Amino acid sequence: MPEQLRHYRNYVGGRYVDAQGGKTLPVENPATGSAISAVPDSSAEDARSAIDCAEQAQVPWERLAPIERAGYLRAIAKGIRAKEDLLARTLSEEQGKPLDQAHGEVSGTADYFDYTAEWARRIEGEVIPSDRPTEMELLLRQPIGVVAGIVPWNFPLYVLARKVAPALLTGNAIVIKPSEITPNSTLELGAVFADAGVPDGVVNLVCGYGPVVGEELASNPKVGMVSVTGSVRTGSRVMELAAKNITKVNLELGGSAPAIVMPDADLDLAVRSIKACRTLNTGQVCGAADRTYVHERIADEFVDRFAKAMGSMRYGNALTDAGIELGPLVNARQLEAVSGRVERALSEGAQAVVGGKPVGDRPEGHFYPATVLVNCRQDMAIVREETFGPVMPVVTFHDLDEAIAYANDSIYGLASSIFTRDVDVAMRACRELKFGETYVNRENMENMQGFHAGWRRSGLGGADGKHGVLEYTRTHVVYLQYDGLAGRA
Ligand code: NAD
Repeated sequence: MPEQLRHYRNYVGGRYVDAQGGKTLPVENPATGSAISAVPDSSAEDARSAIDCAEQAQVPWERLAPIERAGYLRAIAKGIRAKEDLLARTLSEEQGKPLDQAHGEVSGTADYFDYTAEWARRIEGEVIPSDRPTEMELLLRQPIGVVAGIVPWNFPLYVLARKVAPALLTGNAIVIKPSEITPNSTLELGAVFADAGVPDGVVNLVCGYGPVVGEELASNPKVGMVSVTGSVRTGSRVMELAAKNITKVNLELGGSAPAIVMPDADLDLAVRSIKACRTLNTGQVCGAADRTYVHERIADEFVDRFAKAMGSMRYGNALTDAGIELGPLVNARQLEAVSGRVERALSEGAQAVVGGKPVGDRPEGHFYPATVLVNCRQDMAIVREETFGPVMPVVTFHDLDEAIAYANDSIYGLASSIFTRDVDVAMRACRELKFGETYVNRENMENMQGFHAGWRRSGLGGADGKHGVLEYTRTHVVYLQYDGLAGRA
């Protein structure tokens, strides 16, 4: 019923505002297919007014000492923790992820603000030796100014923290555009920023469609950096628009991570780890293992154990079914994409050991079961492309050379993994796998103190850790010449 829909507003310049003309767009619960809220369908003009608010707020914000800005980050973390239940339920409802995973994302988001606050006293400049005897050469780290953050639907809160926390710590103001598919949890954060006392305009939340709000953020000359997490197509479009003003881009894009299972691997560990990352968030994770390469000698045993583990997973509605491990896919389009990709693989000779078609007992939601496909080949789309769902194609290999060649044969370069007990094999893989991350004997899941950065079409620049914070700064070199004789008689 439309009258039961919750209504959310943008948060701009410290005020809650509707989109121009009161336009809204609907948000649905992917487990039921029904609308749950109406959110602003903002215009380019709405985005511009948020950019203007950020521009005004940025200079006084930059003048605060870093440790003072860190205090706001800690207050934000506290505010998020205080609302954990509400935020987790809002997130599960709009995105579909199991409730325990939603709680994990909310507490990880709070931790991210606390962690980033710790960098306040650690972002240092440099003193560089000058070629002149009476000169100091100083490299300063300064904020970029107004930053824009464009966020996807798979981890709406955690990805927001990855952009807002480092931007604020280093003295920038930011405009965030959440995904139009999952904006509710983000718009709940307006009150958190306000209660934390963050000065008006330092953080702005503007909801709307990518080609309208996102494109304005990418092409507005007042924006000094645009940080996007999303698909390769969006990253490439944003880069094209940003090129007009030579605006800095930071891109965290798609992935198709190989997992290599060597004949000496601990198979229980390999099964547990590959399953854990392939099915987290119902398979909708950029760095999750997407294609498994198993040595031919152990392939049958691996597939047997892996299929049992995947086949036993329970799916359901996070808010009404207890103890589920899989939720729905985020929308009908995503369900169509995943099932279409699997159907094509089956028609090309793959075989489903478990799963392989949409579930029949939940027609109202966008559910797809855990699926394992064997007889897959390197040339199949299911192996080559990112499949954002709980689906694992398995390909066999003869030796490490072949496995590494298959793994590297991809337009993506975000994450990779290998399972082996042989340290020489592991180290060779780390040297030869052409990816931004390699996980050895564990599931793919990055830490906030690492550096999450993709090679090839998976991105440009990165997030997390010291290098992630530095992305939000620019350098300013000062040549300070002085009179070396001053004060001499
Ligand atoms: P998407 O590219 O469709 O959308 C991401 C965001 O970009 C949304 O806010 C969307 O509205 C906006 N957008 C869409 N078109 C735009 C345009 N023309 N101009 C500006 N903005 C635009 O991606 P998605 O479907 O929301 O997310 C899934 C993708 O994100 C997957 O490919 C996944 O691998 C990737 N991802 C990457 C990482 C990483 O760290 N590398 C993390 C999470 C997700």
